[in-house]
Amino acid sequence: MSRVYLDHNATTPVDPEVLDAMLPYFSGEYGNASSIHTFGQKARAGVETAREQVAALLGARPQEIVFTSGGTEADNHAIFGIAGAAVASSSKGRALSTNVPAISSTSEGSGLSADDVEAISGGPGLSRDVTPTAQERLQPLKVIPVPHIIATAIEHEAVLNTCQALEKRGISVTYLPVDRDGQIDLQALHDSLREHPETVLITAMHANNELGTVQPLEEIGQIAAEADVYFHTDAVQSAGKIPIDVNAFKLDLLSLSGHKLYAPKGIGALYIRGGTRLRQLLYGGHHQRGFRPGTENVAGIVGLGKAAQIAKASLAEDAKRVAALRDTLEHTLLQCVPDSRVNGAGAQRTPNTTNITFSGIEGEALVIALDLKGLACSTGAACSSGAVEPSHVLTAIGLPAEDARASLRFSLGHHTTAANIDFALQVIPAAVAQLRGLSPTYRKPAKAEVHP
Ligand code: PLP
Repeated sequence: MSRVYLDHNATTPVDPEVLDAMLPYFSGEYGNASSIHTFGQKARAGVETAREQVAALLGARPQEIVFTSGGTEADNHAIFGIAGAAVASSSKGRALSTNVPAISSTSEGSGLSADDVEAISGGPGLSRDVTPTAQERLQPLKVIPVPHIIATAIEHEAVLNTCQALEKRGISVTYLPVDRDGQIDLQALHDSLREHPETVLITAMHANNELGTVQPLEEIGQIAAEADVYFHTDAVQSAGKIPIDVNAFKLDLLSLSGHKLYAPKGIGALYIRGGTRLRQLLYGGHHQRGFRPGTENVAGIVGLGKAAQIAKASLAEDAKRVAALRDTLEHTLLQCVPDSRVNGAGAQRTPNTTNITFSGIEGEALVIALDLKGLACSTGAACSSGAVEPSHVLTAIGLPAEDARASLRFSLGHHTTAANIDFALQVIPAAVAQLRGLSPTYRKPAKAEVHP
């Protein structure tokens, strides 16, 4: 059976050109990029070329790119890193802002103990400028102001769960609601900025993984800059699909993932604007200036660089072609399938993504039915301990749980063809009709009355 893949937001295949660029680094050029001999220098050259290629995709400088194990690590590093640096600076008596009064109670959410500081800052092994000495540890708990973070309610778990981990350690987080099109309200963002405790970070994803909807980063960046608050975006789902310019968006931090960009899994990058006060996440050797230790994944890094180079060159043309196919899929489905609606259609979206509610069906059942016919797509639902929870993104845009569970995401890619879309259009309406026919709750079309 031939299979059609419309799940590129989950992962993409490695581009053959990317694979070709990587292959030498598995065998012939296998040196450790930290070694000073020729093997090492060749690996180092591959890494530095990739750093330039990734920087070019973002409008950044190469020295502002740190390679990571993927988008999750980049998100964790950005958020823990800003919170950790803010807490560490205030723990040394340098208040986050001169007008933040020291909070004198350890009650939950109002202050952090020295132990909390250590936990947030990364635990023992911190660089000496913030590591408490044994004597300092014996002092009564010093209470310091807690920073505040703003995130959107529709972030990926890599951001949401990091924020929740910080909340458990006393840091306060505001989760901004979104409208039906997945957009935050800029006035609400502005109103959420705080002085006591001081907001240190706004994290707002560029494109949402389930809806494809794009947040207005330029406007958010302006608000962050005026408030002198660090600004991070998770650009895992936008990189290579829509243009990114870290300067136009006034970004301080940006996360990338290779496997959404036709590079391999297990490689990513964090853009860090020069001068950003960011606590490191991992401790070890001197790789990447000691900031992100661990022997570099040279082949993966080279692959990410090549993928970034290809994306930069082909983005505009590819976006036009893919958007036309996505629009055909979307419009035809809306015509052929009664009670179907596109989610997030009122916002700017990445060209490859559509999320559609087919009322009356169970999304998981439709994914399985389509897979049996040879079409791969996904729901936004997270499956945990056997229970399918409705997607937090779809509920955040106001869908009732049953509609959230009845929604599917189709995400196209570089290699999606018109024939693939024709195939999808053959199988989806039939599968929806079949499941609705079996549903005890979906209202059946009224039967013609038979008169004897
Ligand atoms: N952020 C977003 C928006 C994502 O879609 C994903 C992956 O699905 C991630 C972060 C995590 O990236 P990775 O799989 O590289 O850890």
